[in-house]
Amino acid sequence: MADCEKLATCAFFKEYQEDESKKLALAGLANMYCRGDKQDVCVRKKVSKALGGPVNVPVNMMPNGQPLAGTSSDGWSDAVKTAMKL
Ligand code: SF4
Repeated sequence: MADCEKLATCAFFKEYQEDESKKLALAGLANMYCRGDKQDVCVRKKVSKALGGPVNVPVNMMPNGQPLAGTSSDGWSDAVKTAMKL
């Protein structure tokens, strides 16, 4: 399976890729979602599509829709939370 077409520009990875404490988690997520079978069920992709673009997706949202460990979903908008459930 080809890599997700958004991998090179995905804000989630751009934001955290230099953080040594998160590199292992990011690699696991990328293998499972962005380079693997689950890229079609990526919640970031779903929210981006529903809300008109990746700029509207919280940067700390993992591809599984949860906030990255050590971060919170408190600031996520109602529109984001609704789009996640679509
Ligand atoms: S997190 Fe989702 S949108 Fe971003 S590169 Fe991975 S599969 Fe694509």
